[in-house]
Amino acid sequence: MPITRLTKPDSKFRLDDVSTDPPREASKQEAAERLRDLGKELLELQELMWGARTHSVLIVLQGRDAAGKDGAIKNVVGALNPRGVAVSSFGVPTKEEREHDFLWRIHRHAPRAGEFAIFNRSHYEDVLVVRVHDLAPKSLWSERYDHINDFEELLSEHGTIVIKFFLHISKKEQEKRLLEREEDPSTAWKLNVNDWKEREVWDEYTEAYEDVFRRCSTRHAPWHIVPADAKWYRNLVVAEAVAEAMRDHRDGWLKTLERNGRAGREEVEAYRRAKGIRHKG
Ligand code: AMP
Ligand code: MG
Repeated sequence: MPITRLTKPDSKFRLDDVSTDPPREASKQEAAERLRDLGKELLELQELMWGARTHSVLIVLQGRDAAGKDGAIKNVVGALNPRGVAVSSFGVPTKEEREHDFLWRIHRHAPRAGEFAIFNRSHYEDVLVVRVHDLAPKSLWSERYDHINDFEELLSEHGTIVIKFFLHISKKEQEKRLLEREEDPSTAWKLNVNDWKEREVWDEYTEAYEDVFRRCSTRHAPWHIVPADAKWYRNLVVAEAVAEAMRDHRDGWLKTLERNGRAGREEVEAYRRAKGIRHKG
């Protein structure tokens, strides 16, 4: 499956070059089957990571309103053992948060070894909404790309597998989803006049996002641009990318588990020998 993964800075990257639709050859039915397999694989990888305690996973989800961040989170989390998964949503900063540097509120939600952290919005809002709406002077936010890269490098050096997703929807699909929310009483609670206001600055957000992808794409914390007009394809791409990133560590985790298992067994045996205990089996 072709995934748009950005692993290095690229000053020419344009969002318009990436489709918001699934590729023509993608099939919804095959996607459902693949997603089931990926769910099993993710659970297995999670168990290995949990046992090995050498790594953690940070999933960052960004996207415009109604892009499907909640849906994508539900899908990934649904495959996992909830023990060891924490979801954090980042909204308008509180007074206390505003009185600190922008990473202060983020860093404490970074995942512990063995665990998953999933961010619904993130430190990137500080170069997105903040930039589009002039919430901080340019002299401040323009320094943040470097701070973000350093921060993510720090996490990565400490064993965090950082996987970032932009859920890419078209302006038309967003309108459709916002209108659907109005009609459906079970989703009308999500309505927010702000979503319509944000549509007016669609192009400004496109520019802000493009700068993010141009400047904050690295090998240790790549961006994935996810065609998100179809929910089934969006879920597939996200699951596939998470599994792919974790798969690289599978053998290492297995070795760690074997080593730890051996050490544990030796300890138990030494204890029994010292006590003169003999055990059947
Ligand atoms: P929602 O994700 O729909 O719950 O909305 C959260 C809102 O918080 C969005 O409108 C974001 O733009 C806003 N938000 C998130 N982070 C920041 C930030 N650092 N500064 C200002 N607004 C933010
Ligand atoms: Mg919203």
